[in-house]
Amino acid sequence: METKQILYELRTKNGLSQDELAEKVFVTRQAVSRWENGETVPATETLKLLSKLFNVSINTLLGSPHPLYCQCCGMPLDDSIIGKNDDGSLNEEYCKWCYADGTYTYDNMDDLIDVCVPHMAKEGFSEEEARAYMKEKLPHLNYWKRHDELSDQGKFDAFKKTLIEEINGLHIEGMPPVTKLSALVGSYVNLEYPLPNGAKVKFLNDETAYLGTQLESETDTGFCYGVVANVDFILICTYGKGGSDPKLVMYKKR
Ligand SMILES: [Zn+2]
Repeated sequence: METKQILYELRTKNGLSQDELAEKVFVTRQAVSRWENGETVPATETLKLLSKLFNVSINTLLGSPHPLYCQCCGMPLDDSIIGKNDDGSLNEEYCKWCYADGTYTYDNMDDLIDVCVPHMAKEGFSEEEARAYMKEKLPHLNYWKRHDELSDQGKFDAFKKTLIEEINGLHIEGMPPVTKLSALVGSYVNLEYPLPNGAKVKFLNDETAYLGTQLESETDTGFCYGVVANVDFILICTYGKGGSDPKLVMYKKR
């Protein structure tokens, strides 16, 4: 699809008139009309505003001229899994697991490989193949090439360590100790917990990235502890296979 058609479809799908869209991105109605006629394409700054407004990548607005890959983990990117800057705009360099709300979530290549390998194993790689493939591929991606410059000097890692100590300090009965926290997107871990009155509630925001992990019970096969946390809170729950029968164990404000 061409930019003119893409812009027309995004505008009408969002119920905006040409005037209304023009006002939102600080151009004239005539400019919008010219984009939709294919006479011009929006300038770079305007593309950024359109991208944020419609929650689609600039690459999509330009008719997807080249495929996007996360420059940290190598995963192909579509608009639904692109990471966001802290102002809510999309960062087309990264997926939302590697870059969440303006923060890089991996400081160490081995941590990333440990997270990716089990997923790749499901896709038919052996563990050694997956590990060797990642070790070869990751150093060629921008994030790892520019790691020294992009790194926050271990600040995020230090925060994760503090969280892990806090979580383990809660001494939840039966829960194995937390050793690692990874970035998780809300929609994947936003379980519905039953209240005593029978109503069900969710505590997380589907769109937000959290830190968390799953710990398998050492005594009860298939029974898991789920941990989700961020700067503001720690949530601990239990569930059976595939997230069945979730129960909230603790929700603690930090
Ligand atoms: Zn990634």
